[in-house]
Amino acid sequence: MTYLFETDEHAALRQQIRRWASAEMAPHAAEWEENEAFPVELYAKAGAAGILGTGYPESMGGSGGDVGHVVVASEEMILAGKTVGATVGLGSHGIALPPIVKLGSATQQERFVRPVLEGKKISALAITEPGGGSDVAGLTTRAVRDGDHYVVTGRKTFITSGTRADFVVAAVRTGGPGHGGVSMVIVERDTPGFSVSKKLKKTGWWASDTAELAFDGCRVPVSNVIGEENAGFVAFMVNFTQERLLLAAQCVAISELAYREAVAYARDRQAFGKSLTGFQVIRHKLADMASRIAAARALTGELTVRYGRGEHTPALAAMAKNTATDCCSFVCDEAVQIFGGAGYLRETLVERLYRDARLYPIGGGTREIMNEIISKTEGY
Ligand SMILES: Cc1cc2nc3c(=O)[nH]c(=O)nc-3n(C[C@H](O)[C@H](O)[C@H](O)COP(=O)(O)OP(=O)(O)OC[C@H]3O[C@@H](n4cnc5c(N)ncnc54)[C@H](O)[C@@H]3O)c2cc1C
Repeated sequence: MTYLFETDEHAALRQQIRRWASAEMAPHAAEWEENEAFPVELYAKAGAAGILGTGYPESMGGSGGDVGHVVVASEEMILAGKTVGATVGLGSHGIALPPIVKLGSATQQERFVRPVLEGKKISALAITEPGGGSDVAGLTTRAVRDGDHYVVTGRKTFITSGTRADFVVAAVRTGGPGHGGVSMVIVERDTPGFSVSKKLKKTGWWASDTAELAFDGCRVPVSNVIGEENAGFVAFMVNFTQERLLLAAQCVAISELAYREAVAYARDRQAFGKSLTGFQVIRHKLADMASRIAAARALTGELTVRYGRGEHTPALAAMAKNTATDCCSFVCDEAVQIFGGAGYLRETLVERLYRDARLYPIGGGTREIMNEIISKTEGY
């Protein structure tokens, strides 16, 4: 099944990404995941193929299209490339670049957006801190103005692509407490005082690197502030909606992949003289999986269309993320069950997807925070 919004153009994009990911990712997927890294050369290849530019304006080096194209492209990358870790690592610009694209200066767009879309630079978004991720308005990394620079001091953690990013788009406190005192700045890797303090080991998403970052008196030029000083919080909120949309879409894709693997295995595997699909209980498991995927896809598709039209949709994004997350957790768990003992082995794809799935109720805003957003919007 595809999204209801898809046109012939999306079908062509699916084909293009499927061909590319089958050739460039799938043959190495298991190895990259086990090694907890994919080669840095993949950025250049994806950039040259126009894949990193999907959904970005041509004037900034993108390939055109909108968020619907990004959703479709990332689904095919997961389905055909078979490595969620490499897909999310390669796609970290999907959360790092939008603030620069939407609010950055022309110089920032030329210096930071274009080279990332060409696969020449790597970007990361750094909001979460060791002291807490959900309470974004409480962040403590400080940026103090000193002439034409800000002096940035603090820590960030759980940063996707953080160990090899050429620059990070960081949330910093430039003003007083609360959300009114927060700005977004671009911190370049070679800034004295910037360091990767730790590479973090995770439950899933192994091929994607995740870092703890330290900012010890980094002097960041004022020209690297994105948009207005102390107006960063609004930018995050818009960014969070897009991030949640993309995470929901990844959940749909992972679910689809786990479901396909489970159907193929159930057809092939024999027990008590017949294939697993010969048992009603297994057929019903597959039917439940297919139904939940259809529901998650429908909601994620609606969000994609509304967000693409420019509607303000934080609650719908929260609903879609929770629905798709629950679907992904359920489908991957059932897929492992259908595989039996083989589902518990590291060599089996569904085992890896089951681990990858655990991130989604946490990353990009937890399940509980999504429900807080829905509660506020509904006015309980
Ligand atoms: C693999 C991975 C990649 C990530 N990538 C990035 C990245 O690239 N950039 C980035 O900035 N961050 C990233 N994150 C961080 C992620 O967004 C945070 O982990 C997440 O927002 C939760 O923050 P926390 O871990 O500090 O949990 P906490 O905020 O400490 O929450 C702990 C628990 O308390 C609950 N809780 C907190 N507040 C409330 C409340 N008000 N009501 C009810 N329950 C509450 C939470 O739901 C959760 O269950 C990543 C995380 C992971 C694991």
